[in-house]
Amino acid sequence: MSYTTNKSTELFQRAQLSIPGGVNSPVRAFKSVGGTPLFMTRGKGAYMYDADGNQYIDYINSWGPMILGHAYEPVVNAIKEKAAHSTSFGAPTELEIEMAELIKSMAPNVDLVRMVSSGTEACMSALRLARGYTGRNKFIKFEGCYHGHADAFLVKAGSGVATFNIQTVPGVTAGVSNDTLTAPYNDINAVQRLVDDNKGEIAAIIIEPVAGNMGCIPPVDGYMEALRSICDKEGIVLIFDEVMTGFRLAAGGAQERLKINADLVTYGKVIGGGLPVGAFGGKKEIMQHIAPLGNVYQAGTLSGNPLAMIAGYTMLKTLKDDPSIYTQIDEKTAYLHKGLDEALKTANTPYVINRLGSMISVHFSDKAVRNFTDAATADNALFNKYFHALLNEGIYLPPSAYETWFISNALSKEDIDRTVETTATFFKK
Ligand SMILES: *Cc1c(COP(=O)(O)O)cnc(C)c1O
Repeated sequence: MSYTTNKSTELFQRAQLSIPGGVNSPVRAFKSVGGTPLFMTRGKGAYMYDADGNQYIDYINSWGPMILGHAYEPVVNAIKEKAAHSTSFGAPTELEIEMAELIKSMAPNVDLVRMVSSGTEACMSALRLARGYTGRNKFIKFEGCYHGHADAFLVKAGSGVATFNIQTVPGVTAGVSNDTLTAPYNDINAVQRLVDDNKGEIAAIIIEPVAGNMGCIPPVDGYMEALRSICDKEGIVLIFDEVMTGFRLAAGGAQERLKINADLVTYGKVIGGGLPVGAFGGKKEIMQHIAPLGNVYQAGTLSGNPLAMIAGYTMLKTLKDDPSIYTQIDEKTAYLHKGLDEALKTANTPYVINRLGSMISVHFSDKAVRNFTDAATADNALFNKYFHALLNEGIYLPPSAYETWFISNALSKEDIDRTVETTATFFKK
């Protein structure tokens, strides 16, 4: 190691005495890539700093929310100012209306939107709503897609579930998981078969419109259109899980970018500007079944929390007022893509770089990566070595081959050049 991480090692040992595995979310533990997780103390712009004072170029960005970099001043200042006027009421505030109106002005097909505190909550509530609305129990999800940790979604899930290769999650009952039907991503015939075999029983199809929890896997041409038409024909609610893609791929998320209309949409990550926020919304016809308008119950003590709302509002307003941010961040990611491609071309290693907008990832595979099986058969041991080689040089990739790299607009050309050079050096060895 070219740098020391003694303090992090010490903290990790201490953490394990009082926190399961020393972490509050599994992938953070570095279990699959090996080594000791680094404890962070602060961040500014494109960089974060660990307890030993090491600086890292950040390609996680809190798994998405820090799309404008760490400690983005307008967000920080807005939180400070708001906090002085109480951090929670449990009664409605005008700011919640402003947040909902702002979301509606950016996201297509959102007549009504309900705020929650995480992406998990957003997806779990959207599924309940789709079931309540249709009166059907089953739903389809895709292998390698992650929709949070609610029971129904923990079947062939991506992200940490894939990283740790957990086949069945203890605690999720067969009664629940039997209603979860799964199909490979990007295979419309598999979806059609499930629909034919379960006629009139499927409430929803939930999908990451650009998959990001098995590395980045964009939809193949015509796939989303075909899903839309199956849902229309069969009265199935199409749920776009835009927790990752929302306010990242465009102001209107994947719906805008791919030009596909969803019936319900879920948000998280960017929408909270780094505070715990999620949301689900959609057409009035469906959303009006949520309590207190309808009987599909859904609630939250801290939902619409003032600090969370002002952080999210300030973030979204910035993105709405300056659409050039999306062009810039896409250009930066394209520049990274080109650089990585050149660095890897000269190496004697098969690789696939998937990218759509500012979502990108590298799979060490000799064939196209279009679904979870493709991602799982890539050389993920090599990814783990690559991860550590970069980490040693102060470049922090997601600690799993099953994650998308989250690009922030704070990244400079120099940061990207350094990432590419370090990649080239590693593969020359
Ligand atoms: C992160 C993520 C979730 C879960 O969100 P949390 O805020 O971690 O609960 C759900 N869906 C997708 C697509 C995600 O990337």
